[in-house]
Amino acid sequence: MTTASWLDLPSDSPFGLHNLPYGVFTTPGDERRRIGVAVGDQVLDPGAVAAELGLDAELVTLLAARSLNPLLAAGRPTWTLVRAQLTAWLTDPAFRAAVEPHLTPRAEVALHLPFEVGDYVDFYASEHHATNLGHLFRPGSEPLTPNWKHLPIGYHGRSGTVVVSGTPVVRPQGQRKAPADAAPSFGPSRRLDIEAEVGFVVGAPSELGTAVPLADFAEHVFGVCLVNDWSARDIQAWEYVPLGPFLGKSFATSVSPWVVPLDALAHARVAPPARDVEPLPYLDDRDDKEPWGLDIALEVRLNGTVVSRPPFAAMYWTAAQQLAHMTVNGASVRPGDLFASGTVSGPERGTEGALIELTWNGERPTTLADGTTRAFVEDGDEVVITATAPGPDGTVIGFGEVAGRVLPARA
Ligand code: CA
Repeated sequence: MTTASWLDLPSDSPFGLHNLPYGVFTTPGDERRRIGVAVGDQVLDPGAVAAELGLDAELVTLLAARSLNPLLAAGRPTWTLVRAQLTAWLTDPAFRAAVEPHLTPRAEVALHLPFEVGDYVDFYASEHHATNLGHLFRPGSEPLTPNWKHLPIGYHGRSGTVVVSGTPVVRPQGQRKAPADAAPSFGPSRRLDIEAEVGFVVGAPSELGTAVPLADFAEHVFGVCLVNDWSARDIQAWEYVPLGPFLGKSFATSVSPWVVPLDALAHARVAPPARDVEPLPYLDDRDDKEPWGLDIALEVRLNGTVVSRPPFAAMYWTAAQQLAHMTVNGASVRPGDLFASGTVSGPERGTEGALIELTWNGERPTTLADGTTRAFVEDGDEVVITATAPGPDGTVIGFGEVAGRVLPARA
């Protein structure tokens, strides 16, 4: 049974009672950054409600914070408690008088980066994406490197340039050298691309020197957001050998303003695709009754035209395997650490999460609704990535969007 709310929520709302994602907002009349919870087309201020109801001072402080970090650090028992409180406030008419004054229409708020990003790691977990990129970046070689099916490949990115949805992205400049060029040249990237990804937000820290096993994933991971890992393919192709992505990726990474709690995704869990190589024991989830495949359906729009529908359920490595791998050497994680899945690409045409795959290196440009074509992203273009997942009783869990418009390079 779907719980009813005293709010008049349509049953197909992407921000229904089973979702309750967290963000950070301000209003035109009140520039204090504070935590918000999306419900229907409104934003709830849980810190204000907790204060009005006279709840425990520690809880009020957590919920009234400027970012999600204190709540992230508090750990799963607190996350469960807060979620139960939010649900009670929005369903029990006894709370209506205390809650209703602290709802603001979503259209009236400004949304900010929801948490201070600690370390940022980006993985490479789609077999289809890795195969496509292997063909394009290393023609004539085996597309998957020999390690690919033995470990989730990743790299450490730049957390200081993670920006919230809506932040413009300035076209990066750098060195690029096509194979036929005699020497590298400098200038604005000519092959600016996107990567549609899913991000995992770490809450509870782990201890330095101690690995996080697969089974402890939900103790450490708070929730999920959408990520656009902007990528300058020409800069990337020239610089990435032998140490991996650097300036071709670090100029900007956009994230959605809402963090969907892991609890909201219980009905989205699915088995990951069959693995054809036996993983080492610390990565082996084949006997897990509930491994962490997630049925999240993404959509990528370029200037309003849907150009791709990447299926997250097709990812070879799960986020639990990524966290286990990221910590297996004893590296610790902290509240606010963000790790992204890697580009989500499915096996079929129209499910590629990056333009370099969709347009096959620009050889088959994609046509937009206005009749223009794109090989890569042009100045002025806006890219919007959205996603949904199944909730209980036929409901939908929405992730909102991560949007970004490209501005010309700065001289
Ligand atoms: Ca990426």
